[in-house]
Amino acid sequence: MAVIGVLALQGDYEAHAAALERAGAGPREVRRAADLDGLDGLVIPGGESTSMLRLMEYYGLMPALRAFGASRPVFGTCAGAILLAAEVLNPPQPSLALMDMTVERNAYGRQLDSRVARIAGHELGGGEMEAVFIRAPIIRRAGDGCRVLATYQGNPVLVESDLHLAATFHPELAPDDRIHRRFLDKVRLVQEEARR
Ligand code: GLN
Repeated sequence: MAVIGVLALQGDYEAHAAALERAGAGPREVRRAADLDGLDGLVIPGGESTSMLRLMEYYGLMPALRAFGASRPVFGTCAGAILLAAEVLNPPQPSLALMDMTVERNAYGRQLDSRVARIAGHELGGGEMEAVFIRAPIIRRAGDGCRVLATYQGNPVLVESDLHLAATFHPELAPDDRIHRRFLDKVRLVQEEARR
Protein backbone atom coordinates (compact mmCIF):
# COMPACT_ATOMS: atom_id res chain seq x y z
CA MET A 1 0.00 0.00 0.00
CA ALA A 2 1.36 3.44 -0.89
CA VAL A 3 2.03 5.69 2.08
CA ILE A 4 0.90 9.22 1.21
CA GLY A 5 1.61 12.27 3.35
CA VAL A 6 -0.96 15.01 3.78
CA LEU A 7 0.48 18.41 4.66
CA ALA A 8 -1.38 19.15 7.89
CA LEU A 9 -0.44 22.75 8.70
CA GLN A 10 -3.75 24.38 7.74
CA GLY A 11 -6.77 23.68 5.57
CA ASP A 12 -8.87 20.58 4.91
CA TYR A 13 -6.24 17.90 5.34
CA GLU A 14 -8.57 15.53 7.21
CA ALA A 15 -10.93 15.26 4.23
CA HIS A 16 -7.93 14.36 2.03
CA ALA A 17 -6.77 11.67 4.43
CA ALA A 18 -10.26 10.12 4.30
CA ALA A 19 -10.34 10.33 0.48
CA LEU A 20 -6.90 8.69 0.25
CA GLU A 21 -8.09 5.85 2.46
CA ARG A 22 -11.16 5.36 0.26
CA ALA A 23 -8.86 5.20 -2.78
CA GLY A 24 -6.71 2.52 -1.13
CA ALA A 25 -3.70 4.43 0.26
CA GLY A 26 -2.35 4.86 3.77
CA PRO A 27 -2.39 8.56 4.69
CA ARG A 28 0.03 10.13 7.15
CA GLU A 29 -0.03 13.71 8.48
CA VAL A 30 3.03 15.84 7.71
CA ARG A 31 4.00 18.80 9.90
CA ARG A 32 7.80 18.71 9.95
CA ALA A 33 10.47 17.92 7.35
CA ALA A 34 11.26 14.60 9.08
CA ASP A 35 7.65 13.48 8.50
CA LEU A 36 8.44 13.28 4.77
CA ASP A 37 10.83 10.37 5.29
CA GLY A 38 9.58 7.17 3.72
CA LEU A 39 6.56 8.71 1.99
CA ASP A 40 5.66 7.66 -1.56
CA GLY A 41 3.76 10.86 -2.34
CA LEU A 42 2.33 13.99 -0.75
CA VAL A 43 -0.96 15.89 -0.86
CA ILE A 44 -1.05 19.64 -0.27
CA PRO A 45 -4.67 20.42 0.62
CA GLY A 46 -6.90 23.41 0.05
CA GLY A 47 -7.08 26.17 2.61
CA GLU A 48 -5.45 29.55 2.47
CA SER A 49 -2.23 29.49 0.50
CA THR A 50 -0.74 32.60 2.16
CA SER A 51 -1.25 31.17 5.67
CA MET A 52 0.09 27.80 4.56
CA LEU A 53 3.10 29.47 2.99
CA ARG A 54 3.84 31.39 6.19
CA LEU A 55 3.69 28.17 8.23
CA MET A 56 5.85 26.34 5.66
CA GLU A 57 8.44 29.09 5.91
CA TYR A 58 8.20 29.25 9.71
CA TYR A 59 8.85 25.52 10.07
CA GLY A 60 11.61 25.61 7.44
CA LEU A 61 9.69 23.22 5.19
CA MET A 62 10.23 24.91 1.82
CA PRO A 63 13.58 23.30 0.90
CA ALA A 64 12.42 19.87 2.15
CA LEU A 65 9.19 20.06 0.14
CA ARG A 66 11.06 21.19 -3.00
CA ALA A 67 13.52 18.33 -2.61
CA PHE A 68 10.70 15.84 -2.03
CA GLY A 69 8.87 17.05 -5.14
CA ALA A 70 11.98 16.74 -7.29
CA SER A 71 11.57 12.95 -7.31
CA ARG A 72 8.20 12.06 -5.77
CA PRO A 73 4.64 12.95 -6.77
CA VAL A 74 2.81 15.84 -5.13
CA PHE A 75 -0.93 16.46 -5.52
CA GLY A 76 -2.06 20.02 -4.81
CA THR A 77 -5.72 21.01 -4.54
CA CYS A 78 -6.85 24.65 -4.67
CA ALA A 79 -4.44 26.42 -2.26
CA GLY A 80 -2.18 23.37 -2.79
CA ALA A 81 -2.27 23.95 -6.56
CA ILE A 82 -1.31 27.59 -5.95
CA LEU A 83 1.69 26.40 -3.92
CA LEU A 84 2.78 24.05 -6.74
CA ALA A 85 2.65 26.68 -9.50
CA ALA A 86 5.78 28.29 -10.89
CA GLU A 87 4.06 31.68 -10.96
CA VAL A 88 1.30 33.09 -8.72
CA LEU A 89 -0.73 36.22 -9.49
CA ASN A 90 -3.27 38.36 -7.59
CA PRO A 91 -1.10 39.09 -5.72
CA PRO A 92 2.23 37.47 -6.62
CA GLN A 93 3.60 35.26 -3.83
CA PRO A 94 6.41 32.71 -3.44
CA SER A 95 5.67 29.04 -4.15
CA LEU A 96 7.31 25.64 -4.42
CA ALA A 97 7.42 26.07 -8.21
CA LEU A 98 7.16 22.35 -8.92
CA MET A 99 4.82 22.75 -11.93
CA ASP A 100 5.30 25.00 -14.94
CA MET A 101 2.04 26.92 -14.75
CA THR A 102 0.71 30.35 -13.81
CA VAL A 103 -2.27 30.61 -11.45
CA GLU A 104 -4.37 33.61 -10.50
CA ARG A 105 -5.74 33.45 -6.97
CA ASN A 106 -9.42 34.07 -6.15
CA ALA A 107 -10.01 34.44 -9.84
CA TYR A 108 -13.77 33.83 -10.04
CA GLY A 109 -14.54 37.09 -8.27
CA ARG A 110 -16.60 37.81 -5.17
CA GLN A 111 -20.14 37.10 -6.36
CA LEU A 112 -19.50 33.64 -7.71
CA ASP A 113 -16.58 32.62 -5.59
CA SER A 114 -17.86 29.20 -4.51
CA ARG A 115 -20.00 26.64 -6.34
CA VAL A 116 -20.49 22.99 -7.17
CA ALA A 117 -20.03 22.41 -10.89
CA ARG A 118 -20.48 19.39 -13.12
CA ILE A 119 -17.56 18.79 -15.44
CA ALA A 120 -18.14 16.83 -18.62
CA GLY A 121 -14.89 17.75 -20.39
CA HIS A 122 -12.28 15.57 -18.73
CA GLU A 123 -9.88 12.74 -19.52
CA LEU A 124 -10.40 10.48 -16.54
CA GLY A 125 -12.95 8.15 -18.11
CA GLY A 126 -16.50 7.60 -16.90
CA GLY A 127 -19.19 10.24 -16.73
CA GLU A 128 -19.39 13.78 -15.43
CA MET A 129 -17.29 14.79 -12.48
CA GLU A 130 -18.58 16.88 -9.58
CA ALA A 131 -16.22 19.75 -8.78
CA VAL A 132 -16.45 21.85 -5.62
CA PHE A 133 -14.88 25.28 -6.16
CA ILE A 134 -14.17 27.39 -3.05
CA ARG A 135 -12.57 30.78 -3.71
CA ALA A 136 -10.71 28.95 -6.41
CA PRO A 137 -7.76 30.05 -8.51
CA ILE A 138 -7.74 29.92 -12.33
CA ILE A 139 -4.84 28.32 -14.18
CA ARG A 140 -3.98 31.08 -16.67
CA ARG A 141 -1.06 29.24 -18.29
CA ALA A 142 -0.17 25.55 -18.36
CA GLY A 143 3.40 25.17 -19.63
CA ASP A 144 4.82 22.61 -22.08
CA GLY A 145 5.40 20.00 -19.40
CA CYS A 146 1.75 20.15 -18.28
CA ARG A 147 -1.18 18.11 -19.62
CA VAL A 148 -4.68 19.49 -19.12
CA LEU A 149 -6.96 16.71 -17.85
CA ALA A 150 -10.13 18.74 -17.31
CA THR A 151 -11.48 22.16 -18.16
CA TYR A 152 -14.35 24.28 -16.82
CA GLN A 153 -15.63 27.40 -18.61
CA GLY A 154 -12.67 27.12 -20.97
CA ASN A 155 -9.96 27.13 -18.28
CA PRO A 156 -7.85 24.17 -17.14
CA VAL A 157 -8.97 22.94 -13.70
CA LEU A 158 -7.07 19.64 -13.49
CA VAL A 159 -3.50 19.53 -14.79
CA GLU A 160 -0.67 17.04 -14.50
CA SER A 161 3.03 16.94 -15.20
CA ASP A 162 5.04 13.72 -15.33
CA LEU A 163 5.27 13.74 -11.53
CA HIS A 164 2.63 16.05 -10.14
CA LEU A 165 -1.11 16.69 -10.20
CA ALA A 166 -2.99 19.93 -9.50
CA ALA A 167 -6.73 20.63 -9.19
CA THR A 168 -8.19 24.10 -8.70
CA PHE A 169 -11.22 22.51 -6.99
CA HIS A 170 -11.69 20.11 -4.05
CA PRO A 171 -11.90 16.44 -5.16
CA GLU A 172 -11.67 15.38 -1.50
CA LEU A 173 -15.12 16.90 -0.91
CA ALA A 174 -16.89 14.93 -3.68
CA PRO A 175 -18.02 11.31 -3.46
CA ASP A 176 -15.83 10.32 -6.40
CA ASP A 177 -12.33 8.95 -5.99
CA ARG A 178 -11.24 9.05 -9.66
CA ILE A 179 -8.84 11.95 -9.10
CA HIS A 180 -7.21 10.49 -5.99
CA ARG A 181 -6.85 7.21 -7.91
CA ARG A 182 -5.18 9.10 -10.76
CA PHE A 183 -2.67 10.43 -8.24
CA LEU A 184 -2.07 6.97 -6.79
CA ASP A 185 -1.44 5.67 -10.35
CA LYS A 186 1.28 8.30 -10.72
CA VAL A 187 2.77 7.24 -7.37
CA ARG A 188 2.78 3.60 -8.52
CA LEU A 189 4.55 4.49 -11.79
CA VAL A 190 7.31 6.32 -9.93
CA GLN A 191 7.70 3.40 -7.49
CA GLU A 192 7.98 0.94 -10.41
CA GLU A 193 10.58 3.09 -12.17
CA ALA A 194 12.63 3.31 -8.94
CA ARG A 195 12.63 -0.49 -8.67
CA ARG A 196 13.93 -0.97 -12.22
N1 GLN B 1 -8.42 31.39 -2.01
C1 GLN B 1 -7.44 30.51 -1.44
C2 GLN B 1 -6.03 31.02 -1.74
O1 GLN B 1 -5.84 31.86 -2.57
C3 GLN B 1 -7.60 29.08 -1.94
C4 GLN B 1 -8.95 28.54 -1.53
C5 GLN B 1 -9.01 27.07 -1.33
O2 GLN B 1 -8.02 26.37 -1.16
N2 GLN B 1 -10.21 26.56 -1.27
O3 GLN B 1 -5.11 30.57 -1.14
